[in-house]
Amino acid sequence: MTTYHAAFRCVEGCPGEWPIDQVIYECPDCGGLLQVSHDLEALKARSGAAWIKAFDDRWMTRVWPYGSGVWGKKEWVMPQIRDENIVSTAEGGTNLFWAERYGKSIGVEDLWIKNCGNSHTGSFKDLGMTVLVSVVKQMIADGKDIRAIACASTGDTSAALAAYCATAGIPAVVLLPKGKITTAQLVQPLANGARVLALDTDFDGCMALVRKLAKEEGIYLANSMNSLRLEGQKTVAIEIVQQFDWSVPDWVIIPGGNLGNVAALGAGFDMMLELGLITKRPRLCLAQAEKANPLYRAYKAGWDKFEPIVAGETEASAIRIGNPVSVHRAIRALKKYNGVVEQATEAELAEASAAADRAGAYTCPHTGVALAALEKLVARGEIKKQERVVVVSTANGLKFTQFKIRYHEDRIPEVSSKHRNTPIELPNDYEAVKRAVLEGVPS
Ligand SMILES: *Cc1c(COP(=O)(O)O)cnc(C)c1O
Ligand SMILES: [Zn+2]
Repeated sequence: MTTYHAAFRCVEGCPGEWPIDQVIYECPDCGGLLQVSHDLEALKARSGAAWIKAFDDRWMTRVWPYGSGVWGKKEWVMPQIRDENIVSTAEGGTNLFWAERYGKSIGVEDLWIKNCGNSHTGSFKDLGMTVLVSVVKQMIADGKDIRAIACASTGDTSAALAAYCATAGIPAVVLLPKGKITTAQLVQPLANGARVLALDTDFDGCMALVRKLAKEEGIYLANSMNSLRLEGQKTVAIEIVQQFDWSVPDWVIIPGGNLGNVAALGAGFDMMLELGLITKRPRLCLAQAEKANPLYRAYKAGWDKFEPIVAGETEASAIRIGNPVSVHRAIRALKKYNGVVEQATEAELAEASAAADRAGAYTCPHTGVALAALEKLVARGEIKKQERVVVVSTANGLKFTQFKIRYHEDRIPEVSSKHRNTPIELPNDYEAVKRAVLEGVPS
């Protein structure tokens, strides 16, 4: 039997390889990020067609751990984890929604929304966290001294970390910017028993503190500079292609903050190309909120120089990041996939989100950012009417109830809500009810 193997290597190409169960986040030579590198020669011993068959046979199966969308691709994700150490909530395998009416309303006929928010904790962060927490569980089982896993978070990372740690029985610590995340996102880690620190700073401030804790206190770091998460997240690319019977869409649009997810998306397509499952590349579009748009600015300036910014307040709170950790690997992925970067104002993201909701979706504000980017690309003819487009929806709209309520009550600053819809309050009176009902339906 072939044995598969993954290890850490420097993203910048410095020599050396480190085992995935070593506590290491940066290259000792250049200080750059590490990436998980797979033994592709071993993986190539199976043909592309054989991998497709294996992945299709495992899709939604009851055989542990393959029913998970992530662990169904175990050899490509983290082959050395022993099955008893896998911490899974059957993540992945989320629905791909044909957004037919919304698509047609903006001029595209083949538009799909990949609902990554229909997952255990309501965001795509589950896909990465299952891998990271499984690796840590195995490290602990093998006698490594790890006291807790910690992260700084704009909300969804901490929800995922807390849930997977609670599943595994490992202590979790989360550092949040006080008052800058939604109630749902705050209550999730609390409910799962994490130690939650609400700090008087922004996300970037929380990040600096958690890095110091990881360096000095033996706390394992779960932020996306830790490349383990990207290995799980890259399965989104594979799932999308699998859900189209192994055909590649023309475009994939994704909202980005720390920019790990777009890099992961690229890595997923890279592996499918390399291992012969697909032959075509999609184009990628990374969408940012105008209030937190450092990558958009770099793109407009011809990619030459990237400058961190101080991110402003945006409804898309999970991508309110001015100094993204994975910026270089994101730029590499975007260049390779003929990528573009777009941005959305608060009004654009709120209206796009509401318009998609009107056509049957229930979108979070980050997905609104991606949809607004889509609308711009269609309007200027860069995306053509017949092209197949997938928008990656990163979180469940139910986590963002306040955003929805404030939109429909027309209370979001800089937005005058076009699709406003509020309850009609009436007395307990048949005639009044009848009038109200008939007014709203075609005669
Ligand atoms: C984390 C997150 C993002 C951003 O992903 P990055 O990898 O940081 O670019 C987008 N949307 C939601 C809902 C998120 O939780
Ligand atoms: Zn290096």
